[in-house]
Amino acid sequence: MSELEANINKLSGYLTRFQQTGLLNQIGGKAVSALSGDTFDNHSPVDGKLICKIAKSGAADIDAAAKAASDAFPQWRDTDNKERKKILHRIADGIVARAEEIAFAECYDTGQALRFMSKAALRGAENFRYFADLAPGARDGKQLPSPTLMNVTTRVPIGPAGIITPWNTPFMLSTWKIAPALAAGCTIVHKPAEFSPVTARILVEIAEEAGLPPGVWNLVNGFGEDAGKALTEHRDIKAISFVGESKTGSMIMRQGADTLKRVHFELGGKNPVIVFEDADLERALDAAIFMIYSLNGERCTSSSRLLIQSSIADKFLTRMVKRINQIRVGHPLDPTTEIGPLIHKVHFDKVCSYFDIARQDGATIAAGGEAVEGEGYYVRPTLFTGAANNMRIAQEEIFGPVLTAITFDTEEEALAIANDVEYGLSGYVWTNDLTRAMRITEKLEAGMIWVNSENVRHLPSPFGGVKASGIGRDGGDWSFEFYMEQKHIAFATGKHKIPQLGKDPSE
Ligand code: NAD
Repeated sequence: MSELEANINKLSGYLTRFQQTGLLNQIGGKAVSALSGDTFDNHSPVDGKLICKIAKSGAADIDAAAKAASDAFPQWRDTDNKERKKILHRIADGIVARAEEIAFAECYDTGQALRFMSKAALRGAENFRYFADLAPGARDGKQLPSPTLMNVTTRVPIGPAGIITPWNTPFMLSTWKIAPALAAGCTIVHKPAEFSPVTARILVEIAEEAGLPPGVWNLVNGFGEDAGKALTEHRDIKAISFVGESKTGSMIMRQGADTLKRVHFELGGKNPVIVFEDADLERALDAAIFMIYSLNGERCTSSSRLLIQSSIADKFLTRMVKRINQIRVGHPLDPTTEIGPLIHKVHFDKVCSYFDIARQDGATIAAGGEAVEGEGYYVRPTLFTGAANNMRIAQEEIFGPVLTAITFDTEEEALAIANDVEYGLSGYVWTNDLTRAMRITEKLEAGMIWVNSENVRHLPSPFGGVKASGIGRDGGDWSFEFYMEQKHIAFATGKHKIPQLGKDPSE
């Protein structure tokens, strides 16, 4: 039996229970169907087969989950931080123990290749460990003495928070959002993406088995326009942490306006990788390929625009085309696969539509540019060359294994092209000229910039974007700033003069 066959057999063992019961919500510590009894079908992008039925929830389910999160909040808020730390570490242990189940389910549900998903499961555990260790200090504040007062600050959890996640690498992103919320003392209602909800269910089960009290973490499945919308409008939900498309972020801002929601948005990107002629071109080539073709290109920080200096463009692109044509497209559970199928027919159609758009705009398809025949939503890794930055392929987030290459002559031109998009999530600069790197990073409009490196996540560093790519930052204390309120308390240190209104001077 091949490794792929063995993995497929194991996968079916992991999924059997979901096929029998359907994928349920978790509200107040109980696995429950949607109150309406409605379900929707979740199909795999790998072969189109039904994975399982999913609870199709609406406003009533969100209301029940928000009530459970509100009821559980005082106790969780007041739980000793050391106890919180222990529980979060136990969740990490539970993730590690079930890492294979998580990785396999994620591959089949999302189409992502196992070589990346096995690491994503373990990174999920790391997220919990990192915030577990920060939990004891989450409330820490400052002393700001003035002549008459001892001013102190402390932080308190904001309350029940809503977490809405997208379909790309849903497990890892969910842990990234949920771990700091719990470490801060918030209770949560999580609404995972309708296209890839399976691992969110496994995650909440792990959390409760690890001793997380009922109601602290509630899971509600469903579509954005009903369950997601109801969550953003619910009065008891104090904050919404959202990862998804920029236009959905705008909708959520409107939906949350009446209840004055605090929002944290991680949105789309059209991130440049800028390669100068003086760079280490071997490493730049590896990184540029990795940052667009790993994770099926369904990655917010993917470097989807290659800005390449004209003097080295031909040679660099020729080598790139050779490598792209060698990328292995295949079943996600085959350990040798580098690109799996795209998440869904809707997304597959969108990505494929850009092949024609590129031709119409006058760009050249130097590699790929077609779907793979047969079942599943597979496309060939694609490179567009001869592009200009005003083309749609250079401006719009395609969110697939599709790279648009644009040439430039000068540093100023590179910078102007890099910044001439509505997004500003990440940027990658390849040069061995230190002063140029400093000039470029100063002016590049992006929340995160890597110089001579691919994206390497460092949990204490701030993660997030500018412009249409987001509001707010994740990571380290930035996550606590979102999930907590600052409180200022002032203690009089003596009997300072208090202004006396309405007092008779003779009294
Ligand atoms: P999406 O915006 O379509 O959906 C994301 C989530 O929002 C889903 O759970 C969906 O059900 C929900 N939703 C949809 N409409 C809603 C509404 N009106 N109210 C409340 N919730 C609603 O995004 P997607 O297609 O699932 O994910 C891909 C996008 O996510 C890409 O644009 C990508 O760049 C972005 N992304 C950004 C980051 C980042 O850190 N910046 C990370 C990953 C993905």
